[in-house]
Amino acid sequence: GVRVRFAPSPTGNLHVGGARTALFNYIFARSNGGKFILRIEDTDLERSTKQSEEAVLNDLTWLGLDWDEGPGVGGEYGPYRQSERNSLYKQHAENLLNSGHAYRCFCSNEELEKMKERAQQLQMPPVYTGKWSTASDGEIHEELAKMTPYTYRFRVPKEGTLKINDLVRGEVIWSLDTLGDFVILRSNGQPVYNFCVTVDDATMHISHVIRAEEHLPNTLRQALIYQALGFTMPSFAHVSLILAPDRSKLSKRHGATSVGQFREMGYLPKSMVNYLALLGWSDGTGNEFFTMDQLIENFSISRINKSGAVFDSTKLRWMNGQHLRALPSEELTTILGERWKSAGLLLDLEGTFVKEATELLKDGIDLVTDADTVLSNFLSYPLDSTLASTEGKPIVEDKLCDMAASLLSAYDSGELVEALKEGPAGWQKWVKSFGKQLNRKGKSLFMPLRVLLTGKLHGPEMGGSIILLYKAGVCGIISPHAG
Ligand code: GLU
Repeated sequence: GVRVRFAPSPTGNLHVGGARTALFNYIFARSNGGKFILRIEDTDLERSTKQSEEAVLNDLTWLGLDWDEGPGVGGEYGPYRQSERNSLYKQHAENLLNSGHAYRCFCSNEELEKMKERAQQLQMPPVYTGKWSTASDGEIHEELAKMTPYTYRFRVPKEGTLKINDLVRGEVIWSLDTLGDFVILRSNGQPVYNFCVTVDDATMHISHVIRAEEHLPNTLRQALIYQALGFTMPSFAHVSLILAPDRSKLSKRHGATSVGQFREMGYLPKSMVNYLALLGWSDGTGNEFFTMDQLIENFSISRINKSGAVFDSTKLRWMNGQHLRALPSEELTTILGERWKSAGLLLDLEGTFVKEATELLKDGIDLVTDADTVLSNFLSYPLDSTLASTEGKPIVEDKLCDMAASLLSAYDSGELVEALKEGPAGWQKWVKSFGKQLNRKGKSLFMPLRVLLTGKLHGPEMGGSIILLYKAGVCGIISPHAG
């Protein structure tokens, strides 16, 4: 069956690139009834931290990428932290030594440096040419007796090629003659990164390795180790880089790049998931709105794009708005209501105010954090600056004061308040007769009316706005609280 893994190094936060890799693996597992495994690659003891591991796990959980095996969950092929698997690496290094795929190399650092220099002078690739690949048992035992430190080197075939069929990039071929025998176990007993990854992927029975393109050079070494260990190679899918809008490598200087930053800014995990999935993948129909279930239903590796994907934070913001508005209206009402309450924006309003405000204002809200300014703008009455603006001046000249007088008398008589209490239908009816009375309709009726009642030239649907502003007690010149 399908078994895939996400293998973060806990040396920082989860970035959008890592999150996308995790997501592709997760979706692929779920769409194939397979397993999604989480493995912590903490062999770099100096840079790995427990806090970082916790933060990464937390971000994955927030995104909804629950793992079937890994830290906190366990599983048949654990432990799932590389730092806890040392004996396994040792054991497989011994196996390779015994089968002749690896050998002990007693070269000192100085010797290796000299070899490199010589190669440079001869303009040859710095391939290991030490004698230890062909040393006799006698020579080896002599060094062992002297306690000379040694590494384990992997014996690379001296010629030929290695080929993989990458599921994204197609055929990838390396020639072996420039690779050189590489170290798999250091003289202090520490296994090297490529060796750990291979032993892990092999012993965890990983069927597909889906990871970032930058790991492609590692694949050559890993594939050779795979073969030597006698395991069937997994399929590989190397996903292209995520780029900044200027097509350079995405980095911190381009703004927020970590999942945690987006969470703090108020993004929904759903929209992150949707947007990340579109970085290098599409279903081919032009549809861009996907829930996790829809992604699982529609995803296929063969539709992953080979070229770099541009991270566009404006589009992510837009997408968050799409997902926000797709929430069931009660849920959105609760979210915005809590937000407004904690911002101190909700006056003592009972009943349906929050629900109606949500309906009226949601189109202007892409991020939950926008909601504060959107509501406080809505409740504000900047009449003076509106009238002073270029667009506002003609409205002043257009006998705004006459209308204000009629409006006030409609208010004083109670007829306008009655109409507003009846809701949208009452408003419609009233505004029609008001227009008749003033002999105005269309823009010449609604523009000055909006300005007088909301203090603004533009805004959400007018009847709904007026009714709500009246409820809030801030409806321009007819406000019951107006001085
Ligand atoms: N630990 C590696 C990283 O953080 C991933 C290696 C892999 O997927 O093979 O980039």
